[in-house]
Amino acid sequence: MLSDVLEPQTISVFDQLDELGHEQVVFCNDNETGLRGIIGIHNTVLGPALGGTRMWSYKSEADALNDVLRLSRGMTFKNSVAGLNLGGGKAVIIGDARKHKSEALLRLFGKFVRNLNGKYITAEDVGMTSRDMEYISYETSHVCGLPESKGGSGDPSPFTALGVYMGMKAAAKKAYGNDSLAGKSVAVQGVGHVGEYLVEHLTKEGAKVYISDVYEDRLKAVSQKFGATVVDLDEIYDLNVDIYSPCALGATVNDSTINRLKCQIIAGCANNQLKDERKHGKLCLEKGIVYAPDFLINAGGVINIATEVSGGYNPTWATAQVESIYDKTLHILEVSMREGKNAQEVAMEIALKRIKDMAKIKSSF
Ligand code: NAD
Repeated sequence: MLSDVLEPQTISVFDQLDELGHEQVVFCNDNETGLRGIIGIHNTVLGPALGGTRMWSYKSEADALNDVLRLSRGMTFKNSVAGLNLGGGKAVIIGDARKHKSEALLRLFGKFVRNLNGKYITAEDVGMTSRDMEYISYETSHVCGLPESKGGSGDPSPFTALGVYMGMKAAAKKAYGNDSLAGKSVAVQGVGHVGEYLVEHLTKEGAKVYISDVYEDRLKAVSQKFGATVVDLDEIYDLNVDIYSPCALGATVNDSTINRLKCQIIAGCANNQLKDERKHGKLCLEKGIVYAPDFLINAGGVINIATEVSGGYNPTWATAQVESIYDKTLHILEVSMREGKNAQEVAMEIALKRIKDMAKIKSSF
């Protein structure tokens, strides 16, 4: 039973919403299917809140709530800085995606999304697939990332990986004066959907790649395909590499890891890589680590998906937008260095300014 592993909630939910500025949070519960989900809608000034659904074996309900609140807030910044007319939202489902996922659970979740009448649009995230989005689409039209055979944009991961690769190259240009990754060593933490495509880009360019993952089958597949070197889960923080690329879960740049990292660059696809964005962003700057803001460089997937929302899937437009992550990253890193401000804060300021400006123009017809 899922409930056996959950601990009681101890922090006030409303205090958390106040602190992070959320508009709405929806708890989805059903005994029959085992659905325990939370939808977080952070900000809808720019448009409907778009963000994927994550299925994960959270240790507690508090962890799940904390994750959905942080992730949905991150989507507000991501969609804004990417120039999309979309607000920030995200959903989590508590459970092991390999054991607890079923058609009924997904379709019931789809009904909860439907009842929000378009205020929240879902897509895939960790533990979800395009096929799962199809099940959700049987109950609501407010879902994207459907299989290409169904007219959707399919798996967003190749686009996310392309954006991360572009952001990593821009960070290399800042750190080394040129953007070539040939001969650079990169530690990719997590070789799931995005991590694998990223490893492909990196090995094609001649980088030396180290990988870690909790699943042996993923490690075996990616090391065999691309000749990447497998390292232990915890060893990844101590590697003597040029680039650390977090591509699993968030908060891996924290008090206990930051002094172990020997890299010059942090650039990956994971959301919320900095446990505390001010403290650890500042520490990166002080240590001379070029940190490419996560929500800026991992926006490729949502950029691709956004074309589906606006009417007709357009991969050509999406690819061009994703490639522009290179210039945006360079600009933000330049401002960060010139003003001595951490790059995450610079990117957040740009995102917030756009939201404020658009709120002003919405006040008239
Ligand atoms: P995924 O579930 O396919 O892959 C994540 C991988 O990380 C899995 O193989 C998992 O076993 C591994 N992992 C988990 N904990 C780990 C640990 N402690 N050490 C090493 N590996 C670990 O997910 P994904 O779609 O590749 O997404 C990866 C990250 O990027 C997530 O944080 C996700 O929110 C973020 N992201 C994904 C997309 C996308 O397009 N898929 C877009 C933006 C952001």
